[in-house]
Amino acid sequence: MQQRIVDHRAGPLLVHGGPGTGKTTALVEAVAARVEAGTAPHRILVLGFGRRGASRLRHRITSRLNRTGAEVSVHSFPALAFAVLRLAALRRDAPPPRLLKGPEQDLMIRELLASDEVPWPDSVKPALSTRAFIEQLRDLMHRATERGLSARQLSDLGVRFDRPEWVAAAKFLSRYVDVLAMSSLTGGTAYDSAEIIRAASHELAEDPQLIRRPEFVFVDELQDTDPAQLELLRLVAGDGGNLIGFGDADSATYGFRGGDATIMREFASLFPTAAGVPAPEVTLPVCHRSAHAPHRATAAVATRLRGGTRHRGHRTPDEVGEGVARIAVLPSGTHQATFIAQSLRRAHLIDGVPWSQMAVLVKSPSEHLPQIERGLRHAGVPVRIAADDTALSAKPIVARLLTIIQCGLDPELIDEPTAVSLLHSPYGGADALTERRLRQELRRRAMRDDSFRNSGELLVEALRRPELLGEFEEDWARPAQRIAGLMERARQATGTVESILWQVWSDSGLSEQLSRRAVSTDRRAAAADDDLDAMMALFDWAAEFTDRLPGAGCDVFCAHVLEQVLPADSLAQQALRGEAVRLTTAHQAKGREWELVVVAGVQEGRWPNLRPRGSLMGAEQLVDAAAGHSPDQLNMISSLLEEERRLFHAACGRARDRLLITAIGDDDSQPSRFLDEMGVDSEVITTLPAPLSLPALVARLRDHVCRADDPKRPAALAALHRLAAEGVPGADPGDWWGLRALSDDRALHLPGERVRVSPSTIERLDQCGLRWILERHGGTETASLPQQVGNLVHAAAEAAAGADDPGETMRTFVDRRLGLLPFEAPWKAAQDTRRISAMVEKFSTWLAGNDRTLLAAEAQFTVTLPEVAPGVSAELSGIVDRLEQDRAGRLHVIDIKTAKTPVSLDETRQHPQLAAYQLAVEAGAFTEWSDSTETGGASLVYPGTSANSAAVRVQPALPESADPDWAKNKVTEVAQRMTGSTFLAVHTKKCDTCAVKQCCPISGRGRSVTD
Ligand code: SF4
Repeated sequence: MQQRIVDHRAGPLLVHGGPGTGKTTALVEAVAARVEAGTAPHRILVLGFGRRGASRLRHRITSRLNRTGAEVSVHSFPALAFAVLRLAALRRDAPPPRLLKGPEQDLMIRELLASDEVPWPDSVKPALSTRAFIEQLRDLMHRATERGLSARQLSDLGVRFDRPEWVAAAKFLSRYVDVLAMSSLTGGTAYDSAEIIRAASHELAEDPQLIRRPEFVFVDELQDTDPAQLELLRLVAGDGGNLIGFGDADSATYGFRGGDATIMREFASLFPTAAGVPAPEVTLPVCHRSAHAPHRATAAVATRLRGGTRHRGHRTPDEVGEGVARIAVLPSGTHQATFIAQSLRRAHLIDGVPWSQMAVLVKSPSEHLPQIERGLRHAGVPVRIAADDTALSAKPIVARLLTIIQCGLDPELIDEPTAVSLLHSPYGGADALTERRLRQELRRRAMRDDSFRNSGELLVEALRRPELLGEFEEDWARPAQRIAGLMERARQATGTVESILWQVWSDSGLSEQLSRRAVSTDRRAAAADDDLDAMMALFDWAAEFTDRLPGAGCDVFCAHVLEQVLPADSLAQQALRGEAVRLTTAHQAKGREWELVVVAGVQEGRWPNLRPRGSLMGAEQLVDAAAGHSPDQLNMISSLLEEERRLFHAACGRARDRLLITAIGDDDSQPSRFLDEMGVDSEVITTLPAPLSLPALVARLRDHVCRADDPKRPAALAALHRLAAEGVPGADPGDWWGLRALSDDRALHLPGERVRVSPSTIERLDQCGLRWILERHGGTETASLPQQVGNLVHAAAEAAAGADDPGETMRTFVDRRLGLLPFEAPWKAAQDTRRISAMVEKFSTWLAGNDRTLLAAEAQFTVTLPEVAPGVSAELSGIVDRLEQDRAGRLHVIDIKTAKTPVSLDETRQHPQLAAYQLAVEAGAFTEWSDSTETGGASLVYPGTSANSAAVRVQPALPESADPDWAKNKVTEVAQRMTGSTFLAVHTKKCDTCAVKQCCPISGRGRSVTD
């Protein structure tokens, strides 16, 4: 059959062929045959789908012809139209035309919407300034232009089908065309991507001699052409010309961009022979691409497609192998990414499939690409994502740079999430600990100034006012200082958008850092390479933006790029890379093939996604209306399902030997219905096989080695020995942290030093020594809301001490500061405010009924204890909330607790904090306020419980207890433990809320740190 196409010499011909039937090969061979038969290459025109499709075709034809002389013209439709218009401009001695890119067109629409007075219907008014509306309006105008509808006709259709938004859009279209024409006064005529095709057709219709007609015209992917492109094709190659079209109605996937697959049915009559009879058609019957199993699965999906496509029965030759078609359902997105990575590694390491012969295809770049990319990179799979496969805004290196510039130009844009994301970006370089330290220090400074502002607000303020960070010299302040410095740079930078970008980027120092990493053996080399590619694409875009819109500011550019969710066409060169797996979308995979293809994230609701696109402006309904059909919701959903199925079919058809489909099956998402149509049993995978990676192998071997009675121990030891000799990280026992000698086994306090014990420390150390030591050295969390509420109530109680009306003083104090608390949500704020007010009332009531005399509030004390270790002295110091004196002259210490649940009466008797206060009284800690050293007991007051009054827990005076020395012994014992060199982890019910459990060997989560 291929020979018949190659031999075809005269008139039109339509070639049908499913995936892998050799359409492109036949096209290339037919072109070669014409050239070899003497046709001048420049008299042959080949039209491919889009710039990438045309580029691939050009490459294949050039390789096949192996010639360096005159070349066959290979174009996309817009490029052909552009060439026609340029020729027309040349003839008129006019400046060359300009093609508006999507982003530029969006900007024009946005500006026009802001200034224009089109009477939009109420239903769309709230959406006018949104990105989605602009995209939908642009799509509607494109569909209208492709279908040759004038503004008046669009308005008429709006009236006829009761779509007031079309009537308004028609008015907007007229204005838009005027503005486009006006912008052309200062340079070449400007065209958008839809208008350019119609304009070229118009020129050719006016002057058929404008271009020399090619002798032969070949068109690839005919099924995705739109009516405007067909009209241009008719003018270039019609009237019985030698036009050979190749297509597959089952692979039509660009309906959302105006493609109309009906051409595969109507070609014969639209392009008749010179004799006026319908063009002949041929079908390629054999799939040369796929092995039996993937072919069967793909063909099964095709049988569900509508229409009697004549090539559906195509077969695979007997000599191809069986191959693999597999469906895997995973419990989560993370499992899915890991499973894909493991499958690819297995195929590469065990079956020898080159990385470049594998691809992972997803439907939407924003939904699954980032997670899968992370999973693959993490597992050491080399990945390639072309810069034009993802929107630039999805690249963190780009998005964060633009955010820094935006925030520099307008500091009001900085909020807490933005500040945190910038600190942790490559520009800041902070880790979780650095952020925590920064927050703690900012809070500490605020508290010093009597401010209750939360750390989030303080963080934002620090970035807005970099001078606030000036006083810090420690490492944990560097990330914030870097970000604030870059924002300052953006504020002060002058020049074009490109030059401002450059100034901030070069100040960041990332260019050198990434360049070094990209050429290193670091496993992050490929990611660094991708980042540099993305930055090149950004600068390329900025240069073009500056050329086209010299008056637009950097803020406009930043907002513009950040709003892009689809990739923009970029001319930026990409770094050449070695072997890598291709990660791309099903649409971008068109025309490609790989030995192993994974189609990932095939979820019901997403693939197919049956939510009508452009529902606000009804671009798809307009296509029906323009064709004379009544736009019908049911029909539209059915068409959407059909298009989604075709896209899935096209994605599966990219696999030569192995096809793996993955989906997530959990409570929220279910595998797509398409999986049931493939005739392949789904495997529900809950346990992932062991990863085939060196780190995983080393981990397994170490596990065997560490079990004394493991029969595999000797073999594992030998294997580890070999790996260690090869320098594999983690194989050498010298690297095992658990086996390393302690770096320092000295006691925490040495002779001559003093250990400081605070009453609250005693309780914490008594509960868990490890937690105490880690928290003491930076392992605490930033102040939470309950802690800040506690601070506020304590401060109010202090303010009320000695006041004439303590209740009123507390109320006023709290009311003034409530607004500074970091409430989570308005409803929660109301609830928390009620609780704080209730605490104030209950504490006031308790105060009123308290018959002891207040001596001091927030009284500080320090007393010396006997030597706790040879040469190590100790002191007990702290602050008591209230120091009171009873009628007998004895001192009584009050500690206020804002927890909701009080300790039990039993626990109160042995409460170490209260005992320490009593001990301090007996040691003469409060002689500044009283001569007495007699303790009358100590109390915990809980105003925050659900009871109507404050709960009070009283610890009797120490001399009254059975063992009057127990408190002294307890404090001495704790002080001794604080001087030790080892600290015990003790499991208690408080482990659940422990801030340092990631470092704790018995919590399970920290075992990897210590083993
Ligand atoms: S998790 Fe429990 S045992 Fe471990 S450090 Fe925290 S409190 Fe101690």
